[in-house]
This record gives sequence, structure tokens and C-alpha cells, in this order.
Amino acid sequence: MQIAENDDFGSEEITLFADLILPVPVAQLFTYRVPRVINPFIKNGARVVVPFGKNRVVTGVVAKIHQTPPTKYQARYIAELLDDEPLVTPYQIELFHWIADYYLCTVGEVLNVALPSGLKITSQSKIQYNPDFEYYDLLTEEEANLLEEIKKYQSLTYEEVEKRVGATNINHIIKSLIGKRAIILFEEVKEKYKPKVLKKVKLNGRFETRENLMELIAQLDKFPKQQEIIMSYVSQVPIQNVPYSNRAGLEKSFFTQNEAFSDSALSTLIKKGTLEEFEVTVSRFADVAPDFSEGTNIHLTTAQQRAFDEIITQFQSKDTVLLHGVTGSGKTEVYINLAQQVLASGSQVLFLLPEIALTTQIVVRLKKVFGDKLGIYHSKFSDNERVEVWKGVVSGQFQLVVGVRSAIFLPFDSLGLIIVDEEHESSYKQYDPAPRYHARDVAIVAAQRQQAKVLLGSATPALESYYQALNGRYGFVQLLERYGKANLPEFVLIDTKKERKSKKMKFEFSSVLINELQEALNRNEQSIVFQNRRGYSSYLQCEECGWIGECENCAVSLTYHQKDAELRCHYCGHKEKVPKLCPGCSSTKVRTVGFGTEKLEDQLKIFFPTARIARMDLDTTRAKNAYKEMIEDIEQGNVDILVGTQMISKGLDFENVSTVGVFDADRMIHFPDLRSAERAFQLITQVSGRAGRRADRKGRVLIQTGNPSQKILQKIITNDYIGMYEEEIKERENFKYPPFTRLIKLTVKHFDQTTALQSAQKLTQLLLEKMGEDRVLGPQPPLVERIRNRFLFDILIKLEREKVNFRAAKAFILEKVTDILTDKTLKGTDVTIDVDCL
Ligand code: ADP
Ligand code: ZN
Ligand code: ZN
Repeated sequence: MQIAENDDFGSEEITLFADLILPVPVAQLFTYRVPRVINPFIKNGARVVVPFGKNRVVTGVVAKIHQTPPTKYQARYIAELLDDEPLVTPYQIELFHWIADYYLCTVGEVLNVALPSGLKITSQSKIQYNPDFEYYDLLTEEEANLLEEIKKYQSLTYEEVEKRVGATNINHIIKSLIGKRAIILFEEVKEKYKPKVLKKVKLNGRFETRENLMELIAQLDKFPKQQEIIMSYVSQVPIQNVPYSNRAGLEKSFFTQNEAFSDSALSTLIKKGTLEEFEVTVSRFADVAPDFSEGTNIHLTTAQQRAFDEIITQFQSKDTVLLHGVTGSGKTEVYINLAQQVLASGSQVLFLLPEIALTTQIVVRLKKVFGDKLGIYHSKFSDNERVEVWKGVVSGQFQLVVGVRSAIFLPFDSLGLIIVDEEHESSYKQYDPAPRYHARDVAIVAAQRQQAKVLLGSATPALESYYQALNGRYGFVQLLERYGKANLPEFVLIDTKKERKSKKMKFEFSSVLINELQEALNRNEQSIVFQNRRGYSSYLQCEECGWIGECENCAVSLTYHQKDAELRCHYCGHKEKVPKLCPGCSSTKVRTVGFGTEKLEDQLKIFFPTARIARMDLDTTRAKNAYKEMIEDIEQGNVDILVGTQMISKGLDFENVSTVGVFDADRMIHFPDLRSAERAFQLITQVSGRAGRRADRKGRVLIQTGNPSQKILQKIITNDYIGMYEEEIKERENFKYPPFTRLIKLTVKHFDQTTALQSAQKLTQLLLEKMGEDRVLGPQPPLVERIRNRFLFDILIKLEREKVNFRAAKAFILEKVTDILTDKTLKGTDVTIDVDCL
């Protein structure tokens, strides 16, 4: 529907206004006037295209329709209505508001992240000469001249007019030309989404009878190439036995992509009408076909069944249940059974997974069970694919969606269950841009609004979740045995200090680890070597003068990547060539310090020259299917030793892995972050969970450390989650950290260091006045003090859960941040707000 601004004629007499959510970072809804012709069609949740600012056109979503004109400005007209049926549900609009409110951002920012960009419109206002225009004598000379120019073109944007005419400030002339109807203003809007269509051919219906078909073939004796096509068609489509199979036809590419068939013969057949061409829209997800032959009817073990029953019972009194199930206990099977039950009752299911786990075996498994009902929502997917899932949820095709954190924004309207697998994963939190939301927490709110249930699952729950389970806010179910008599792996701590003293270390490897890897090779078993740092080595340093390669934009050292002889910044992507001589003192003694996956891979090749070694990290999995292909390779036994970052710790299920080596545990444990102990526990437990998944493969996990007596290591090797929990939760309580408080982090940024500091200090001062010193910490520079040339300062705000009115406190913070942002003496300051930053 195309509507120009002045078209307010129409049958409906009332004047309607619509409050719109626009994808702009302004904290308000915008009121537009509804052209009367679309009065009968406009609905909440429909997308509209509107002019915004001077020459911009944006897609908004209708949040409210009413009859009150705005008081502060003259409402502009909605340019176009895109949907007859809402694409955004009322429940979503509410949720978007809640998110904006809770995470202190704008609804527009939420919308911007929520809508796949294929559902947004990009376009500009365009103008065009009106061929029906007659009243030339009404025009001024200026207008007439401009009109002559515009006539020469099909259509032009405002900017193009200026360029072509070589004049500026002609907007007012254009406006008056529009007013006089000499030119037409229109919005060239294109939906970016394009359905994928397949070209097919079928036989004309006449030939569905046997006689006619025979006659046709006989007639074509004179045209053997055409005859061949028809014969092949008939052999592919069983039209003689199943006449209606002709309706589905055959893909045209069957002929066009096979050299044996003549293209011109095909066109002739189509021209004559013997074959008919047609198109069908196909799903982009057809590549994983549902397979009902194997494994769809897995029977739960006694332990799994007990967990399943307990979850159901708990759901009767709790909205959220935490399932603490050790690695390899078969949580997925429990999820599948629950999902089946919910789907059978007619409700929808959302299954959230951390980004990387989505490309693993679990999705194949779900596809096998749920077939076409399953939608997959991955951030690596093309936009078209994401739009298809969105529309599939609206249309009811996808009753179940498995997806990454942003799947929480999909337009569900009758959710029964949200499963959050690996709920402790930090990738559920979005850091940039706003909204800085946590998908697990949003899931709980989203579920509440639809009377749905939430199941959180993990082998190593987040402290917060475990705390809520222990104090009864969440239900709590445990599954503490592995499937199929497999045992949890055995742990060995290797003292690298001792090994170094007795000169047994070879490069980064202890003799113990090398021996174990060798033995695994001898037994034809697979091993995993885990180092949570990619690249070759941590950094480059000059032995003479101490020079260290640092990023020119960020305050971090550059990581050495040997393969490309480059130094790279892992924060901003900056790259430079490795210097031949020290830039500080021209010495040649520049050496690498520390090690990453690339270096370990190289060393392994020296120790085990005949072993097949693969590396899995951000650098080796950039290509679209690289990750998937690597997993298949490992599954098929083509890899003996896999070196990788945390990427290998998530959801992988390889039954032949027996040995896991863990490097740099100390760095994980001592990383200066409140969560480091918890994170180290989670990460090492997850990685070790890859070992010994089969009853006859005893798993061994070898952890290299400079100090084996560290408490947290003892907890890890005895699988003592509860011990770790108790230790850590005590600390949290002592130092007043979540879950006992709520944390908000403000990050002040500026290109000039002094101004950054001034802004941060002033903001701190403003906050302190009302909140007090116990609640406001900082300002202090974060671990990396400068990123992309901007200097950063953090202010941490701690709010007690009981005493503080969270809402009021946030409103106060927002007000003070706004003061800083609008302070003329602090121009150029940017402040980001991160609610529940930890
Ligand atoms: P978790 O997610 O708890 O680490 P998984 O769900 O990956 O564990 O299960 C581990 C392995 O055991 C998988 O290969 C899975 O197919 C298998 N498995 C689990 N439960 C069953 C069952 N009831 N019947 C058959 N196989 C099972
Ligand atoms: Zn030097
Ligand atoms: Zn950088």
C-alpha cells in the first residue's frame, strides 16, 4: 500500500494516531497520524514505514492506536503499512518495554536488536515528476526550472536532486512543488527479505492420462532431444502410477544443470506448453531432513525418568526449576521429553543454547525428533533465514525454536516452556550494544508473562541460580550420574614447577601429559588439549630493553600470530607485521612470551609427528561451515588430538575421547575478576566432561599448574560443586556482591583522557551525594583502559536487594548520567550503563 502524505481522503471519518516504537535511541514513543485509508487495517504490532528526521525513512512498530493528537509537535503521516497481520505480538511489545525499563535503554534499541534486519526497511524518500500535472502557470520561475530538471529522471532522492542540479537548500522548493502536486513524493521501500524460490516444471495436465502421454512420446519421435526430456521426466516422476505426483513436478535444474539435456529443447517444450514452469517457496532449513528411523524413541533411564518426574512436580509450585545434571547425564533427553509433552498440549517451546553449542550435535538430534516443527535461530544465519524463523513462529509452523540469546525476542504468543541449557554461560549476556540484557533473566520474565515455565540446566550452575534454588525461589532437581554406566573422568594435577626443576618440561608440556597423550594414541583414543587463549603466544617482548608490542588504539599487548607473522589486537582487530628488530632499542633479541593454541599445536606436531592434530578456535572456524566440518571430522575419527579454546568445552559429545589436558589453569583462576574462581571451575569441569563418555573408555583429565594445592583445584578434581559454591557464596556475601546485591556498571568514555576522568569524577560525585560511599565505587580504569582510542573509566554501583528501591535508584542514575551527557563542559563524553553487569 503506497500512500503519499496528503492522501487523507477515505471512508473512515475518525482521525487516528499511532504511537510507534522506532529503532532510534530516544527514550520515547513517537506519535504519527494514520492516513484514513488505512484506518480499517492498522493494528498493534504491525510494522509501518514513517519519515523520520529530515530525509530518513525508518520502520517502526505500532504500539498503541488512539485519537489524541500529540501536543508538542504536529504529527506526520505514516507512509506505509507493511503488515496486514501483526508481526510483533502484544506480549512482545510489553516485553520490549520491560527490557528497556529494566536495562535502562530505549525501546527503540530493544527493537533494533530484536527485529532481524530483513524485517526492517531501509529506504529514502524519493521524488518523481507528476505526469498528470497541468498547472504550469502556478509555478514560480525557480520551481519551473527545478521541475524541468527533475523531469529528466525516473526518480531521485533529495540528495540526488541537489547533486544533479548543483544547488543546495532546495528543500523548500521541492516542498512547494509537492504541495502544488507537480511532483510526487514516494517512499521506495523494499523489504530486504526475499523468500527462496525453486523453479520447477511439470507436464501439462493433459498428459496425465496414459493414452495422451503415449501419444505425446510417439509424436516426439521426430524431436529426440525433446523426447529424451519427457522420458526422463516420466522416469523421475511416477506419473503413470501416481498421476497426482505430476503436481509436485520436478526441479528445473534437473535438466538445466545436466549437460546431457538440451536447453533449447527444454525451452521449446515450455513454449509449446507441453511442460509448464512454476515456482515454489522453499524453506532454507530443508538440509537436515527429519529422520524417524533411529533414536527418536529413546527411553529415559531410571535416573532420567526420576529427574523428569521431579521437574514436572516442581513446576506445579514453581515457575522456574534448576536442573543440576553432571556432564554426560543426558540432560538433552530430559529436555526433549519435556518439550514433547508441552508441544502435545498445544503450547510453544523455546530452547536456548549458547552460541557455539548451536552448531553441534544437539541440533541434529533435535531435528531428528521434531522435524519441520523445529526452527533454528542462529546469529551466524543469514538475515533471510532469521526472517523465515520469525515468520514461521507467527504462522505457527515452528512450535519449537532452538536458538541463541536473541531468540528470546521471537514473536511467541503461547509459550509453555523455555529451556535454558548451560544456563551459567556468559554468552547469554549481551555486552554491546544496548540492550545489555541477560537472556536467562529475560527468559524468566518472558515466561511469567505467558504463564510459561522455565527450566535452567547446567552441570555447573551459576552461583546466582544455585542460590535461588537453595533458598526455594526456584525448584531444584539433580541428575548426578552419567548415562550408560560411564564414570566421571579421573583428575590428575601436574606440578609444573617441580617438572621444570627436574628439567622434565618440554616446551609447555609436562612429561606426564606427553606420556598420557602417547598412551591414548597407542590405544587409538582421541585427546583434547585445552588452552583458553588463541594465537601463538601472548605477546612479544624485547629481552634487552623490555619493549612489549602494544596496540596503538587500545591499552593491551598485541597477540603474536605466527602463521601470518602478525601481531593482532584481540580487542579492536588492529594488525601489524612483526618487527625484525626491537622498535625500542634495535636489538634482535625479541622473543615471544606465553603461549596460545597455535603454539601448542606446533609443539604437539613435534612430539607426535604422525598424529593427526586439529585446532579449533576463533581463527580456524571463521568460515561458515568450518566448525561443523571439523566436528564431523572428529566424529569420524580423523583427528587424534584436538587443540582448542573454550569453544571445545560446549556441548560436544565425542564418545572416543579419553584424555584431556588443561593448560594455564592458574591464569584462569587468578584472572582479576570476582567470578574467576567460579569461571575456572565451570570451564575446567565442562572441558573435562568431554572425556570418558563411554563406559569402556576411562576418562583422564590432566591439569598443569604451578600450585596444585590451590583450594579451587581441589574442588574441581573432586567434582565438588557444592564445596565451590559454599566457598564462593561466602565471599559474595562478605563483599556484598550478587546475589546479595545488584550491580550496575557505568563506563565513561572519551577520546581525551583528562575529560574522560573529569566526567567520571563528576558523575561519581553526583551519585555519591545521594547514594553514599558504600554504594558507589570508583571511578577506576578497567583492565583494558583504552579501547579503540577511547579512554575508559568504570563506576560500580552496588545496591542491596532489600533496602533499596531498585526502580527509583535506576531512575536517579539515569538522571545523573543524562546530566553528564548534556554537560557542555564535558562534550564528547559517552556513558554506557550495564545493569546486572556481573
Ligand atoms: P549432557 O547434556 O547432560 O552432558 P547428553 O545429553 O549429551 O548429556 O548425553 C550424553 C550421551 O548419552 C549422548 O550421546 C546421548 O545420546 C546419550 N544418552 C543420554 N541419555 C540416553 C538415553 N536415555 N538413551 C540413549 N542414549 C542416551
Ligand atoms: Zn629492545
Ligand atoms: Zn586494539
